[in-house]
Parts: sequence; structure tokens; C-alpha cells
Amino acid sequence: MSLFLLLRSQCPPNLLSTEHNYKTRLCIPCAWLAMRNRLSTGDRMQSWNNGSVVKCMFCSTPVETRDHLFFSCSYATEVWTATARNVFQARFSTDWPTIVNYISGTSADCVQSFLERYTFQATIHMLWKERNARRHGEVPNTTTSLINWIDKQVRNQFAVIRITGDGRYDKGLQAWFASRN
Ligand SMILES: [Zn+2]
Repeated sequence: MSLFLLLRSQCPPNLLSTEHNYKTRLCIPCAWLAMRNRLSTGDRMQSWNNGSVVKCMFCSTPVETRDHLFFSCSYATEVWTATARNVFQARFSTDWPTIVNYISGTSADCVQSFLERYTFQATIHMLWKERNARRHGEVPNTTTSLINWIDKQVRNQFAVIRITGDGRYDKGLQAWFASRN
């Protein structure tokens, strides 16, 4: 099953029409595109147009690639590590193929699996958004800002799930809080 379908399958169906869920679902195509290496990263733009700016907008590495952005780049490493290290614990990695291989597998713990996949897609979305903002000349945000926004997004997602009375996800929120320490 693709990650896109895995992420979709983790969404309780009764949440799909809520406004918040609509917004967070916008993250999914970003992770899905990254999985398929279809985001317009520097290396891909270079093959389309030699005049494109292809450097990394975070660290100025000459050619931005998917695997660099997620999450080898020093800026991305900082955001991903602060967000996901305690979620993934022994499985934590900044190496794209390693993470994708793990996250695409099956897991007996659906709540833990949801938390891992949600932090993965939220981090990709936030990094990609920040990268695009910088390309458009906007004021750069610090890693601390991104880390805080991802934290808020994860909390909001669990809060919405809680409203529906799905108690399984209380465990997920508790795991998220525990991982913040
Ligand atoms: Zn970089």
C-alpha cells in the first residue's frame, strides 16, 4: 500500500468532512509527492530549465534534492530531530530511504503508527512550505518556529479526533506529550 493510502486509511472516516481535517489533508499530497520524488526540488528543476535556482534555500548546498531536504539538510535535520526523535525512538533516522522503508511497513500498534506517519507528513509539509516561502523572498522562519507549528498541528489533530469520542487516540496524544520532553 502506498504511504498516501496508509495516511488516508489512518483518518477516521467521520472526520473527513471537518474543516480542520480538510486543512490537514492538504499535507498528504505533499508527503505523497515527496514519496514519489515528484516535488519540484532543485535537481528536478535543473533538468527542466538550466536557469533555475537549484541550491538549497536553507543551507545553500549547490543542488537541492528530495533526500537532502528530507532530512539530511542541517536545517531540516534540526526540525525533524526535535519533532520525531522521541516518537520514533530506536527507529529514528534522518535518512530518507531508511525512514520510508520503516514507515511503509505494517505495525501492530495503530496509534503509534498514526503518530509516526502524522509527524512525518506534517514535517514534510512545513519544511516544503518554508522552502517555498524563502524562494519567494519571504522572511525566513527559525527552526524553533517550525518545530512549534508542527507541535501545534499534531495537538490539533489529536484534539479533533478526541472530539469524536475515539478514545484510542488519547493514547496518541499522551505519547506525543511524552515525546516533547
Ligand atoms: Zn540544505
